[in-house]
Amino acid sequence: MCRSVLRALTTLLFVCTILLGMVHLRAQESTHLLLRGNIVTPDGVLRDGWLDILNGRILHIERERPDLPGVPALDTSDYVFAGFIDLHNHPSFNVFPRWTPGHKFPNRYAWRDWDVYRAALEERQHQLTAGGDTFCDIDEYVEVKALIGGVTSMIGFSGRDTSKPLPDCIRGLVRNLDVFTGFYGTGQGHERIVNSIGILPRDMDANRAAQIAQGIGNGSIDLLAIHIAEGLPTDAESAQELDMLDARGLLTAHTALIHGVGLSPSQLARVHRAGASMVWSPRSNFELYGVTANVAAAFREGVSMAIAPDWSPSGSDNLFDEIRYAARVNRENLDGLFSDRQLVEMGSSVPARMARIDDKVGRIEPGMLADLFLVHASSMSDPYAAIAHGKITDIDLVMIGGVAMYGDADLLHSIKVKTEPITVCGAPRALNADALPDGLFAEVEARLQKRIAAVGSVLAPLAECAP
Ligand SMILES: [Zn+2]
Repeated sequence: MCRSVLRALTTLLFVCTILLGMVHLRAQESTHLLLRGNIVTPDGVLRDGWLDILNGRILHIERERPDLPGVPALDTSDYVFAGFIDLHNHPSFNVFPRWTPGHKFPNRYAWRDWDVYRAALEERQHQLTAGGDTFCDIDEYVEVKALIGGVTSMIGFSGRDTSKPLPDCIRGLVRNLDVFTGFYGTGQGHERIVNSIGILPRDMDANRAAQIAQGIGNGSIDLLAIHIAEGLPTDAESAQELDMLDARGLLTAHTALIHGVGLSPSQLARVHRAGASMVWSPRSNFELYGVTANVAAAFREGVSMAIAPDWSPSGSDNLFDEIRYAARVNRENLDGLFSDRQLVEMGSSVPARMARIDDKVGRIEPGMLADLFLVHASSMSDPYAAIAHGKITDIDLVMIGGVAMYGDADLLHSIKVKTEPITVCGAPRALNADALPDGLFAEVEARLQKRIAAVGSVLAPLAECAP
């Protein structure tokens, strides 16, 4: 009796070992892919070059097609850019349509405390997310919304409560810098970036501030992205935030000040001296305050600046559109201070450096993860102009970790990706059906439409289709 139980257990153990071995093998299954295009590298554009992508990483950049028979190839004449890194967003609000308050505010507290705002957005968002059963639908919808604009990493799902892990769907599609990127193992809780609403006691208590300062001090936190001075330069409440940040020990080389609309040139010099950086969200700033940060002074002072959309109710739908908006501000208000190249890099290599992830993403170079997107070259001979003056339907493909997530259906099919069709600004496009974290996109969209109608609003479009 005892012996037969022992034998059964031994057999079970053997089968388990084989099964575990198979799972292990599957995790290590190699993927190999070639990609042809005009490759935008930090050293210039390699016309008609080839990327050799192995297991999600860029292995080589070649002038000639590598001799690799049987390896699937994406054969394009597109510009190939490093994926966008969005360092400031509030993704869970991006299911709601554009909010036009009808007047400007002195600071963010003025609209956050306003009944009309609360009814239009905050209360509806609370109702929609109460119970948690809509989380994965919202996650998929807003990540697709970012993805179609070339975004491969974003931030902001962590919100205020960072103590509980988010549902597993957060691991799908776009990397979430404050929740799950896949950079540091397979589970949540290992990210090195903290996202915060603000420094005043209403947004962050002294204990939390001390905890973050300690994390920066002991090297466990690479970046604190925090709203600072989101209000007019004349606004007293915004003015005290930089001092408060400093007093809490959080004005550091590991701090990115979000907005900084109210910061004076001398305060910007102080930001630079501390080695801190900034995130510029021009569209949302102009919509809410009628002004934006003094980026000319910040630039003169040498402050590193990323561009990010803030959120779609008052900012752009995605980082591609926010860069296009910034290009317009640059032309109309800043006398062409920034080159198109600088504007594009403020969405890729600059935020990567700010977030200390520039050894992984943000540039197209051997050894980097294959987080990238393809833009139709059309008649533009300058790749950066193709973004700054292009349109969202010029994006032909978006890839994360070597996996094609979105793009032109024929391109996706050419490397045997199973697709779900979607329409972006009238153009037929497709999603990688196997990568969707919450099932078919059409079903997610239909469920959300119903749920958002029930809270008295309508689902935001995937993209506003400006001419
Ligand atoms: Zn914000």
